[in-house]
Amino acid sequence: MKAIVLEAPNQIVYKDIPKNNLLDTISVLVRPRVVGICGTDYHAYRGKQPFINYPLVIGHELGVEVLAVGSDVTHLVPGDACAVEPYIGCNEQDGNLCYSCRRGHTNHCTRLKVLGVHIDGGLCEQFVVPSNKLHRSSKLDYEQLALIETLAIGYHAVKRSGITKNDVVLVVGAGPIGLSVIQSVNLVGAQVSVLDVNDKRVQFAKKHFGIQNSFVDPVVMAKERTSVSSGEMPTAVFDATGNTKSMESSFDYAASGGKIILVGFNRENIVINDEYFHRNELTLMASRNALPHDFTDLITLMEDGIIGTSHWISERANWNSLVKKLPVWCDSTELIKGVVEIT
Ligand SMILES: [Zn+2]
Ligand SMILES: [Zn+2]
Repeated sequence: MKAIVLEAPNQIVYKDIPKNNLLDTISVLVRPRVVGICGTDYHAYRGKQPFINYPLVIGHELGVEVLAVGSDVTHLVPGDACAVEPYIGCNEQDGNLCYSCRRGHTNHCTRLKVLGVHIDGGLCEQFVVPSNKLHRSSKLDYEQLALIETLAIGYHAVKRSGITKNDVVLVVGAGPIGLSVIQSVNLVGAQVSVLDVNDKRVQFAKKHFGIQNSFVDPVVMAKERTSVSSGEMPTAVFDATGNTKSMESSFDYAASGGKIILVGFNRENIVINDEYFHRNELTLMASRNALPHDFTDLITLMEDGIIGTSHWISERANWNSLVKKLPVWCDSTELIKGVVEIT
């Protein structure tokens, strides 16, 4: 079957790969219809994604059509439209649950394999996936379904943070992950500001995501906060950059008693001044991936029109154009979300 494969860093090609349509009793054969492309894919393309073994079929943000179901699958039928939760954990591998999975934290399973990252993903004609990883909707279109994984990252981070409408939130980084955080903070009803050095991204966030304040310069932000709100700084700072310096700076922005939630990540050490951390009794947490109910919650919120997604997609490609467009998207400073339609 046809697939789009990363052969090596900076090498994306069309390739014939063996078709996998072997269904066990609890699996489902699906056909990807829309695939979202994100920072993880760009890092994989550039060779900067540490977990990747090439060659790899990328694609983990997936709106798929069900083609056939295993004999024990009762909640899906051919033709159903689904979002894919691309996190394949212990339960789906061999059923020997790790400590995280035993406690229901499948988002950080110690043996986690993410479709399109650790194992082949969805830029292909069809693939087999465990049925519990499919979240069906009879109302959403494939583009909306392909967006759900991105939205779930922010949704999960906001839930994990435990913020309420009384919090003052700062989101650092206005790329797709930052926007997904902002979208979920809006659901909580807390005041939200954004900081990003890229003014175009800040303007986009301002236009579409109802933020109260926006900043491109942290020094200005610190000054304005001080004058506007008598020194009140954010009670929750979400870092969605994955940039070491930015992550370290997040501690300076938080109010005394505030929380820092690192959503973006990298492999480096981050340095914390412990005196400052203790003096202000700060809380630090990480947020990784998302849980099954984050996917189902979002489907309901989107079906009910509480979350709108019309402004999310800024670029589209099809099967034939992706190989040319991916390197361009990769270098774009304005792109919010590119999706590939597979017909
Ligand atoms: Zn992604
Ligand atoms: Zn596990």
